[in-house]
Amino acid sequence: MTDSLPLPTGQWPELLPGWVWLCGAGPGDPGLLTLHAVNALRQADVVIYDALVQEAILEWAPQAEHIYAGKRGGKPSAIQRDISLRLIDLAREGKRVLRLKGGDPFVFGRGGEEAQTLVQHSVPVRIIPGISAGIGGLAYAGIPVTHRDVNQSVTFVTGHDQSGETPSSLDWASIAKGSQVIVIYMGMKHVERIATSLLDAGRPASEPCAVVCAATTGAQEVLETTLGSMAQDIAQSGLEPPAILCVGRSVLMRQVLDWQGMIAGDPPRNLDPLGRGRPAESA
Ligand code: SAH
Repeated sequence: MTDSLPLPTGQWPELLPGWVWLCGAGPGDPGLLTLHAVNALRQADVVIYDALVQEAILEWAPQAEHIYAGKRGGKPSAIQRDISLRLIDLAREGKRVLRLKGGDPFVFGRGGEEAQTLVQHSVPVRIIPGISAGIGGLAYAGIPVTHRDVNQSVTFVTGHDQSGETPSSLDWASIAKGSQVIVIYMGMKHVERIATSLLDAGRPASEPCAVVCAATTGAQEVLETTLGSMAQDIAQSGLEPPAILCVGRSVLMRQVLDWQGMIAGDPPRNLDPLGRGRPAESA
């Protein structure tokens, strides 16, 4: 373990007064921040952060004012507009503004809208990608989002839209037919409806699924289940959002890749969960 972490020497960009850097904070574990994010945290006058950004990450910017911009009160679009206007005001006051969002700012995070509004108001921006929960969160659960024997594609889906409903533009039947592995963000509220739609479209009830809650944080919990039992198992477990749902056989890989369990001393449950019967690296 090491206490201090200097940035490697190099040409790190300067966060200039009047700029907004829109930055992903990753799924939770501060170790998953990018070096650009650390560089930004060190320079910011103001950090405007979302609900899913861990407090520990804000401690990396002790010099900055910290402003919480989590969505409350069921009026997300009005509040979203407020956030964008606040960013513009702060930039025009000459602040070095860091807008910090959970995961990656451009993955179901409305980062595109915020950045567009800033550009429309002539505020200069820089985008710093982050590790998205649907990739990094699954990796912390020991689930590879792609695995050669399982999937050559992956579909990222949001379980609800701005109104809180399952997005009407989503064609679940097509997703069920065309997606080898489905990774669902914000899926807890409507899990029953989502699972039913996938089952109705022909996905087997026995299909492996995982629910990864508070991924990469100290509170991470993982539920392994099947498509047919997922909704009921979530209800019985009492698990709460934030959670990523993963539907597909890559979930089986957790039986050999639950590396956090192995660090804690658990042996791997099954060295060949996909039943290949040959070494994993062979063609
Ligand atoms: N921009 C974010 C996603 C924002 S939408 C990203 O790229 O990860 C918010 C949803 O992301 C949550 O409802 C949940 O589905 C997922 N999520 C974010 N952080 C998570 C975490 N630590 N564990 C599990 N799910 C998470």
